[in-house]
Amino acid sequence: MFRDAYNNNEPIGIEAMKYIKDGNLVSDDITNEIVRIRLSKADAEDNFILDGYPRTVAQAVALDEMLIDMKTKLDKVVNILSSHDVLFERMEQRRVCDGCDATYHLRFKRPSVEGKCDKCGGNLYQREDDTTESVKRRLEIYESKTRPLLDYYDKQHILYNVNGMQDFDHVYRDIIDILDEIN
Ligand SMILES: [Zn+2]
Repeated sequence: MFRDAYNNNEPIGIEAMKYIKDGNLVSDDITNEIVRIRLSKADAEDNFILDGYPRTVAQAVALDEMLIDMKTKLDKVVNILSSHDVLFERMEQRRVCDGCDATYHLRFKRPSVEGKCDKCGGNLYQREDDTTESVKRRLEIYESKTRPLLDYYDKQHILYNVNGMQDFDHVYRDIIDILDEIN
C-alpha cells in the first residue's frame, strides 16, 4: 500500500517512503490513513488480507475502530515465527521485480535468468530496507513495538502461529490451512 501510494505520486505515499528508506516504522497516523483509504475501495468490501499491518498496538486499536465503522471485524491473525538468523538470511538475499513486485531469493527461489523476473522479464533489485543495517533496525523495532500485538490478539482469541522456519511450500500450506477454516 505504501509503495502503491508512492508510485502514484500521492503526497501521503511520498511522506511514508521517507520513513521506510531508513528502516523506520511509518508514523501511525500516516499508516492508518493509507489503510483506511485502501479498505474503503470496492474490492475490499467482501474480504481482505492485511500483510505487515498493524505493527503497533496503537495501529491495532485504530484498525479495530475502522472495522467497527465498516461493520466488520478481523477473523484471524497469522503470526509467522522465525529466528533472527533465518530472517537475516532471507531478507538480505531477497530480490524484488521492478515490473510486477514478484519476490525471489538468491538461494531458495532463484530466477531462471540471473537478475531477471521469470514472470515478466523485469529487473530484480534489492529493497532499500533489506540491507543489514536496516534489517537489524527493523528487528529491534519489532521487539519493542510489534511483539506486544501478540498479546493483544491472543486476548481476542484470533491469534494463530505458523512455523516460519520450514521451507517455502510448508509455510504457505500452513497459512492456507488456517485461512481455509474461515466461513
Ligand atoms: Zn516481474
